[in-house]
Amino acid sequence: MSRRIIAILVAAGTGSRVGGARPKQFVPIAGRPMIAYAYEALANHPAIAATVVVADPITAAEVLPDADIVTGGPTRQLSVGLGLNAAKALGATHVLVHDAARPFLSATVIDRVVRALESHDGATPVLPVADTLAVGGETLGDAVDRSALVRIQTPQGFRLDTLMVAHAAWDTAEPATDDAQMVRRLGGRVALVQGDSMLEKITYPEDFAAAEARLALETRTAMGFDVHRLEAGEELWLGGVLIPHDKGLSGHSDADVALHALTDALLGTIAAGDIGTHFPPSDPQWKGADSARFLTHAAELIATKGGRIDFVDLTIVCEAPKIGPHRAAMTTRIAALLALSEDRVSIKATTTERLGFTGRGEGIAAQAVATVRVPR
Ligand code: MG
Repeated sequence: MSRRIIAILVAAGTGSRVGGARPKQFVPIAGRPMIAYAYEALANHPAIAATVVVADPITAAEVLPDADIVTGGPTRQLSVGLGLNAAKALGATHVLVHDAARPFLSATVIDRVVRALESHDGATPVLPVADTLAVGGETLGDAVDRSALVRIQTPQGFRLDTLMVAHAAWDTAEPATDDAQMVRRLGGRVALVQGDSMLEKITYPEDFAAAEARLALETRTAMGFDVHRLEAGEELWLGGVLIPHDKGLSGHSDADVALHALTDALLGTIAAGDIGTHFPPSDPQWKGADSARFLTHAAELIATKGGRIDFVDLTIVCEAPKIGPHRAAMTTRIAALLALSEDRVSIKATTTERLGFTGRGEGIAAQAVATVRVPR
């Protein structure tokens, strides 16, 4: 039987700890209501057939006009139950239950939960406990062994029938901690998959400030430029592709002038010096090196800063070889190295009308511009 996974996004809480007139799930973060972030992550995931929002219908319809909305109940447990009924009506075989107060849901976490559901009754993302734990009180109590403990996150995934039975069997006098414990109580096996620190629940006013800061990215643009000499008896590496030609570029590494210009443009966006700063030509380990390594290093430095590459644009200046026949291969290669879609990689070529060193075929020049977003 093929699976049909429906997401249930729970946003029925009143969020009184945050203060303010609106429930916290509808308070804006960086200009968008909190609920919109998780909704978009669920609705856009290819494994999820539909997303049901359990919330106050008037407020929810204001911010998510296209969503399938179910009115919530007085407790989270009852709200999830109402979401389950809606998911069943939509033909679900499995559900993912997620809290709107965890807005920064990545496709990777969804993937992990969905995969674990192939072999388990349920699955939940968890994180290890990093802090030392102890029993509190007026003064310090005993330390608690944290090695056996995990922090539970959502989305939690379940077989629909399993979770419905668990909800029906639960004694409503006892508040349920979460759906995974309800399934476990009935003997269900709940897989633990790796969670994400970005998935932390937004609970207090200061959490909103932290979330705003996390989303506050600024756009940076920088350029790179490089030239290498063309010589007989060298391989011609250009844009990460080996091109058959009677001459090749000479230099300390593989002399891929296009990847060097691109690497310098990326390093420029984070003011991290140039390619020579990171890979000195005097260092013998870079002799004949694959320039792809320089490019991925620059991309990793940007990722480490919490940045993302939006777009790269490259112009190759030469009389020969013709770039057109190799453009698609270069685009594919550079997009793969930078983990970008191919429509975010632009490759252009020009001649200099037989003028200058490029016109005489003595060398190839390349110019690149990179646009990235990095945290402020
Ligand atoms: Mg160079």
